[in-house]
Amino acid sequence: MSRTTTTTVSITCPHWCRIEPQAHADDLWNQGGVLVHHMPEIRINDAGGFEQAGSDTLPAAEFSIGMTSLSTPGGRLQGSSVIYLDGHEVTVDQAEQIAAALLEVIALAKAP
Ligand SMILES: [Zn+2]
Repeated sequence: MSRTTTTTVSITCPHWCRIEPQAHADDLWNQGGVLVHHMPEIRINDAGGFEQAGSDTLPAAEFSIGMTSLSTPGGRLQGSSVIYLDGHEVTVDQAEQIAAALLEVIALAKAP
């Protein structure tokens, strides 16, 4: 004969997480007891595209930025957050370096 009990788990989610707390609760067992928080993806488009001298404008591809982090149900972070740049996983340190490098390149592109 088995013994069964029912218990309540409080789910603490960062304000930026797009996952419903109930979905976290339903997935808790499959995720090994941690919550995987997802921020809503930031999608970057440029309808103006690339201007090409003497030819048609070329379309710009969409670019996406996202992030996930793991925590206990009580909200204690577990490990490092992962940042997604168009699907590529980078660390927070790498993302900071990429952001700084981008600003340098943008300054050159605006005033070559
Ligand atoms: Zn969450």
